[in-house]
Amino acid sequence: MSDYFKAWVMRGEVKDVKLAFEELSKSDLPEEGEVLVKVLCSTLNYKDGMVLMGNMGGLVRNLPHVPGIDFAGVVEESSDARYEPGDKVILTGWGVGERYWGGFSEYARVRADFLVKMPEGFSAERAMAVGTAGFTAMLSVMALEGHGLDPTQGPVLVTGAGGGVGTMSVMLLSSLGYEVVASTGRESLHERLRELGASDILPRESLSDSSGRPLESQYWAGCIDSVGGKVLSRVFGQMKSGGSVASCGLAGGSDITTSVMPFLLRGVNLLGINSVDQPYAVRVDLWDRMSDLLDSRLDSVVSYCGLEDVREYGERILRGEIFGRLVVRVD
Ligand code: NDP
Repeated sequence: MSDYFKAWVMRGEVKDVKLAFEELSKSDLPEEGEVLVKVLCSTLNYKDGMVLMGNMGGLVRNLPHVPGIDFAGVVEESSDARYEPGDKVILTGWGVGERYWGGFSEYARVRADFLVKMPEGFSAERAMAVGTAGFTAMLSVMALEGHGLDPTQGPVLVTGAGGGVGTMSVMLLSSLGYEVVASTGRESLHERLRELGASDILPRESLSDSSGRPLESQYWAGCIDSVGGKVLSRVFGQMKSGGSVASCGLAGGSDITTSVMPFLLRGVNLLGINSVDQPYAVRVDLWDRMSDLLDSRLDSVVSYCGLEDVREYGERILRGEIFGRLVVRVD
């Protein structure tokens, strides 16, 4: 590696963070970690937006810090037998970009346990087009299937459908043969979501207010929810008997209000999704499954920016303005 490289660095106090695009040297890299990765691509996720905008929510506790919760790159040095220079690798989760140095940097030193080898046929750009959002969408699909969901049982609702987790969920579910209903707050996205595989669109407003009834008509055999708040609260009462909701996000709020009726009278399941701490075997299995399900539709949800642009986009993702996935070209 060259002696100097660029990274976004947060300094100061957690309550008063100063974020700057800095030139660092090799000696600034963390000492902990067996593998030095030259980062080729990262992505911008909702959590990155929170951290970049200083809205830490307990995510980052120690400064200085380099944000970026996922990256794909190539191994430059490794003291772990599983990796050697030239290996292409992916990292999502494990608290990287939160507790550990993240991907908004030209180099990262990380624990070998955090990495998976890039599956056959993936480039760094494609791996990050999927990124944490795609990983979480696939994890949600697998959780729903683990609770008995199959395409014969009826429509699956995807909330926050225009976002990263949302678009990936629509695509993956439709590839698996599910009837997908996409809920979005953006009318401009209706056609694009249909092209991704949604058979119907539900405006976000129709889920934003309580119906005042704990149980409504039964619409959804499953739901992948990245919104939380009022939307998720409303969805419980619309689930079919035995249906499951994979709750993975809070873009619309973290508080929910519900009655126990959907759970007691319809056996509805609420499944929590945590992409951060998944064990290695699950990660490898999940990337393998996804590689069979992704097609050229993935290209239609990706846009790109340079490493120097992430602060600007961090603000925009929190305003719900990004469609699909934003890949950060680091190299
Ligand atoms: P995005 O910003 O890409 O997508 C979020 C989507 O939610 C937006 O596109 C928008 O969809 C909708 N939305 C935004 N603001 C509101 C609002 N105020 N009320 C209702 N809907 C809103 O984010 P990501 O897809 O990266 O992440 C989505 C959520 O999932 C985040 O909370 C994130 O932290 C969480 N997450 C959790 C993971 C886990 O392991 N559990 C992993 C990855 C993400 P539209 O315009 O179509 O309505």
